[in-house]
Amino acid sequence: MRASYITEEHEILRKSLKKFLEKEAYPHFKEWEEKGEIPRSFWKKLGDQGYLCPWLEEEYGGVGADFGYSVVLNEELEKVGTGTIGIGLHNDIVVPYLAEYGTEEQRKKWLPKCTTGEWITAVAMTEPGAGSDLSAIRTSARKEGDSYILNGEKTFITNGVHADAVVVVCKTNPKAQPAHKGISLLLVEKDTPGFSRGRKLEKVGLHSQDTAELIFEDAKVPVGHLIGEEGQGFYYLMNQLQQERLIVGIGAIASCERMLELTIAYVKERQAFGQSIASFQNTQFKLAELATEIEVGRAFLDRTIQAHMDGEDVVKEVSMSKWWTTDLVKKVAMECMQLHGGYGYMEEYEMARRFRDAPVTAIYAGSNEIMKSIIAKKLGLT
Ligand SMILES: Cc1cc2nc3c(=O)[nH]c(=O)nc-3n(C[C@H](O)[C@H](O)[C@H](O)COP(=O)(O)OP(=O)(O)OC[C@H]3O[C@@H](n4cnc5c(N)ncnc54)[C@H](O)[C@@H]3O)c2cc1C
Repeated sequence: MRASYITEEHEILRKSLKKFLEKEAYPHFKEWEEKGEIPRSFWKKLGDQGYLCPWLEEEYGGVGADFGYSVVLNEELEKVGTGTIGIGLHNDIVVPYLAEYGTEEQRKKWLPKCTTGEWITAVAMTEPGAGSDLSAIRTSARKEGDSYILNGEKTFITNGVHADAVVVVCKTNPKAQPAHKGISLLLVEKDTPGFSRGRKLEKVGLHSQDTAELIFEDAKVPVGHLIGEEGQGFYYLMNQLQQERLIVGIGAIASCERMLELTIAYVKERQAFGQSIASFQNTQFKLAELATEIEVGRAFLDRTIQAHMDGEDVVKEVSMSKWWTTDLVKKVAMECMQLHGGYGYMEEYEMARRFRDAPVTAIYAGSNEIMKSIIAKKLGLT
């Protein structure tokens, strides 16, 4: 069943994107995973083909594409591997802050670099002492003349090693009550004095994704790099996080579909007790159940995507689909690995990588417990 928002144009994009990825990504992905990074040359190629932020208007280097294009891009990148998540993060999570809340001068200066691959971007919210509880962040920025003096530490930052520009969440008023009213967003460029990278973090999965710590020690950020208004950062984040959570859900369902495909092919081929594994009723029922749950998840996600594209308030639905699809991807990973037997545990099988990559989706972009708290609030329970 094709989603209601998918048009002929989206299918054309998918076809050419697949061709591009077959040449430029699939043959290299194993090497990227081993090296722990996706080379900048790949970002440049994405930019050359118009695959970076195609939703931006033409004057900034985009083509004014709708969110359906983002869905296709994120699905096809997920099929290559979840380690490509940093590209979706740049396209659909970080750059929207600049486009939505930046001044015209900032947009003209920054956005074209985001479409060519000259700039890789990141967003730095999480700190060693504050993840889910964003209002507890300690990174601070005080105004001195025409600069902000930024101090603090961020961790788990996607694209952290390669980022040329980072949207840093900080407190411009640490005394604000409630605390979230003191939060602002600053754009910090890589050569900013006082800005350095900490460790590149070793992770269970997402090996090709460069995840890092960022350190700000009296970093001097021009006041012209404030995004939007002082004290409004928390509200900007709450608005944009909906799209971030949708992107995670899109990746989760695409990964479920891929694991199902891999497992169906495997069980048909693998023999035990003189017959194919696929002929056992347990295998058939397990796969029938997973296929059903994936379809259910896909249908709800597609409905939420459509509502998001129509400009509806989808906070409750996005939270529902984020926790449901990412719990599902963990279940699918577990069941599909079991059906692969020992081979599913071997790195030479794609299944093993997908198993490692699945759990984090229930943690980042707002953990699934936080998603349920939001839903409970929407149900009037708090
Ligand atoms: C691979 C990876 C990439 C990431 N990329 C980025 C990035 O690019 N930028 C960025 O800013 N951050 C990033 N993060 C951070 C991510 O968003 C946080 O890890 C996440 O928000 C959870 O925060 P925490 O790790 O501090 O866990 P904590 O907030 O300490 O939570 C620990 C546990 O307690 C639960 N918990 C917390 N509060 C509640 C509550 N009120 N009710 C019930 N349960 C609760 C959580 O659900 C979780 O299970 C990334 C993380 C990972 C692992």
